[in-house]
Amino acid sequence: MTTTTDGGGDVRLSGISKTYGSFTAVHPLDLTVPQGSFFALLGASGCGKTTTLRMIAGLEEPSAGSVHLGDQEVTHLPPYKRPVNTVFQSYALFPHLDIFENVAFGLRRRGIKSVKKQVEEMLELVQLGEQARKKPHQLSGGQQQRVAVARALINHPKVLLLDEPLGALDLKLRRQMQLELKRIQTEVGITFVHVTHDQEEAMTMADTVAVMNAGRVEQLGAPSDLYENPTTTFVANFLGTSNLIEAEVDTRSGDDIVLKAGGGKLVLPGARCSARAAAGGKVLVGVRPEKISLAHADEAGAVPEGRNRITGRITDSSFIGVSTQYVIDSPACPKVEVYAQNIDRDTRLVPGAEVVLHWNPAHTFGFGADRS
Ligand code: ATP
Repeated sequence: MTTTTDGGGDVRLSGISKTYGSFTAVHPLDLTVPQGSFFALLGASGCGKTTTLRMIAGLEEPSAGSVHLGDQEVTHLPPYKRPVNTVFQSYALFPHLDIFENVAFGLRRRGIKSVKKQVEEMLELVQLGEQARKKPHQLSGGQQQRVAVARALINHPKVLLLDEPLGALDLKLRRQMQLELKRIQTEVGITFVHVTHDQEEAMTMADTVAVMNAGRVEQLGAPSDLYENPTTTFVANFLGTSNLIEAEVDTRSGDDIVLKAGGGKLVLPGARCSARAAAGGKVLVGVRPEKISLAHADEAGAVPEGRNRITGRITDSSFIGVSTQYVIDSPACPKVEVYAQNIDRDTRLVPGAEVVLHWNPAHTFGFGADRS
C-alpha cells in the first residue's frame, strides 16, 4: 500500500529559535527537510531536538522565525490544522478501545463512516492484521508502537514526526523496530522527522541526520558522510571513537598537509581538514578505530610506504566478537587512548607489546586546535 503524497511534504525552517526567559533552547536555525526523506534530529539530552520537533508540530510557538510545510506557512497554526502527525514515546493509545478502533479513531472523528478498508490496509502495513480485536495491553511494546504509527498515518499526514518513539523498548526490539519504521517510511513515501539521542538509531534509519549540540545544528549530512568526514570534534566523538591526536603543521605538499606528531609524520588530506592549517599551527587529527591496522614493533619494516603511522604500547585488549579492541598509549597523543580494532586476532598483540599503528592517510580527518 502506498500513500505517497502529491507534494507539500518538505519542511522548511527559516531562522526559527526558542527562548525560555534568558535561556536559548534553540538558536536561530535554517533547515530544509526534502519531501519523502527520513530525517533524524540527533543529539544528547537537552540539545534542543524535541523543542525543534515541537515547533514543526505546532506544540511549541517559535520565539522567532517561520515554519513552512511545502508552500504553506504554518508558523502560527495550531497542531490540528497542520498536515502533520506526531508519534510519541508514550504510545498514548486509548486503553479501552481495541486496536482496530484505535487506528480508526482519526477517521471517525472526521465523520468518515466506512473505515474498514482503510483501517485494514493500515494494519497490514504495520503487520498487525491479526491483532485487530485485541486491546492495547494485550500487545507487546513494539506492537503498541506500530499501532501508534498506524493511527498517525491513517490521517494521511504530509509529515510524520517521531519523538524518541523507540525509547521505551528494549535493545533487541528497538533494533527490529528501526528496520520496521524504515520499511514503513519507504512504503508510504512521506517525510519522516525522527528525534533520537541514539547515534546508531539515527544512522540506521535516516537518509539525512542533523547533529545538534547546545541548541545548534553542528553538522548535517548523510550518515556515512558524518561518520567519515566530521567537521567538528563534537560530531566526531558523538558518532563514534575518533582517536584525536595533537599535531603541528609542518608543511603542505600539493593538496596534503604534512603534520608532526609524536616524533613522526602524518599526512592529512587538505580537503578533510576543517581548519586553516598554516605552518607551525596546531591541529587535531582523528581516525576511526576500524581504519587502523596494528603491527608488532619488530615488524615495523613490513608496513607499506605511504601509510600514516604512530607508535604505541598496548595497555588493554578486549575480544568483542567480530573484532578485538585495543587500548594503546602513544606518545603522539599522551592524554588520549587510541582504540584500534583488528579482525584477525594476533597472539603477539597483548598488553605491554610495542606496536606500530598505521592507516591510509585518506582516512584521516582534522580540526583546528580549538576543536572546531
Ligand atoms: P531530551 O532528549 O532530554 O528530551 P532534547 O534535546 O529534546 O532533550 P529539549 O527538550 O528540546 O531537549 O530541551 C532543550 C532545552 O530547553 C533543555 O535545556 C530544556 O531544559 C529546556 N526547556 C525545554 N522546555 C522548556 C520549558 N518549557 N521551559 C524552560 N526550559 C525548557
